[in-house]
Amino acid sequence: MAKTALHVDAGNINTDALISFTRKIVRQESLSGEEGPVIQIISDEMRALGFDRVWVDKNGSAVGQIDGARPGPTLLFDAHCDTVGIAPGSVWTREPFGAEIVDSHLYGRGAADMKGALAAMLHAAAGVDRSKLAGKVIVSASVMEEVYEGGALKTIMDQTQPDFVVIGESTQLNLARGGRGRAEIHLETIGRPAHSSSPHLGVNAVHLMTRVIAEVEKIPLGKHALLGPAILALTDIISEPYPGYSVTPSRCRTTYDRRLLTGETPEGVLNEITSLPALREIDFTAKIAQSEHRTYTGEKLHADKFFSAWELDDNDSFLQKSLKGLRASGLDPRLTAYRFCTNATYSKGIANVPTIGFGPGAEGDAHVVDERLSLTELEKTARGYRGIIDAVLAG
Ligand SMILES: [Zn+2]
Repeated sequence: MAKTALHVDAGNINTDALISFTRKIVRQESLSGEEGPVIQIISDEMRALGFDRVWVDKNGSAVGQIDGARPGPTLLFDAHCDTVGIAPGSVWTREPFGAEIVDSHLYGRGAADMKGALAAMLHAAAGVDRSKLAGKVIVSASVMEEVYEGGALKTIMDQTQPDFVVIGESTQLNLARGGRGRAEIHLETIGRPAHSSSPHLGVNAVHLMTRVIAEVEKIPLGKHALLGPAILALTDIISEPYPGYSVTPSRCRTTYDRRLLTGETPEGVLNEITSLPALREIDFTAKIAQSEHRTYTGEKLHADKFFSAWELDDNDSFLQKSLKGLRASGLDPRLTAYRFCTNATYSKGIANVPTIGFGPGAEGDAHVVDERLSLTELEKTARGYRGIIDAVLAG
């Protein structure tokens, strides 16, 4: 049988325009909840690049659509456009919003996480040959990812009903087919206050908590061949009243960061703590933390801080086509997984829509001082996205 080679026409991706657009959005600060100005720039670019439909949804995410000549599946590319801030006291050697280019690297907050990937998606999708396309390509610039993974993507997916999703978070140009999830767990002990001159008259909530912590630290955690180990890490502790003046604490609370593997549920991760036999006598509670966020458009997003792990089978046909498309673009990706949590926690972890990750830079390039992005990788990323479009929506 003759093998039909996939031809990826990446020749019309304008690298200069791609780089200059990436610089433009890096120059525009966009903290979570303050993405309005960058969304304006992004939706203007989508219109200038000839997207067939461009809109901003209720959360303020920008969405652009390109229609192929024939009907077919919907392929969604998602990149968040919010970034973390500049930590007070941190010293950058490059201006964080200067978008300087030095030695073929673009410097600035958001360059690697993940405005470069976003720009590459826009420019890869824009020049695609609609006559060869069966289906739709959608690019979303989602908001609020740094504080609530998957929250804004859910709204985008409700509107666009994608068959396949590509997340552009850093993979070093490899193909991610899974990712660990995360949960934030609050533990609380309740004691009884007493004057600290007679502590034996009360029950000290901090002493109770030290016993809880000692047992929690011994919980054996799972390991996953692709995703790595589950994690349970203590991140804070506080007692009440705080500060305590001559009174034993009546309440103590700790936060644990739990990194999740596939199949783990909120009930399961709480139960492994509350069912510890050594803690049967101790009055304590374990809960998944809650948070509430307001988008720049005024929408309230309520989150249970439990973000599922996800995995796509390595025989999955979307994954195999994407791999073929990346190879046809001259890339040589390995199959890998995210250690950090991404919007795929919703697209695959909850909505169960086949999802892969592909993007420039490494996970360790995110949130750092002097954040930077290789321009060579930026250009290869755009070619890779074009390859995925051609392979998945070939008419
Ligand atoms: Zn990110």
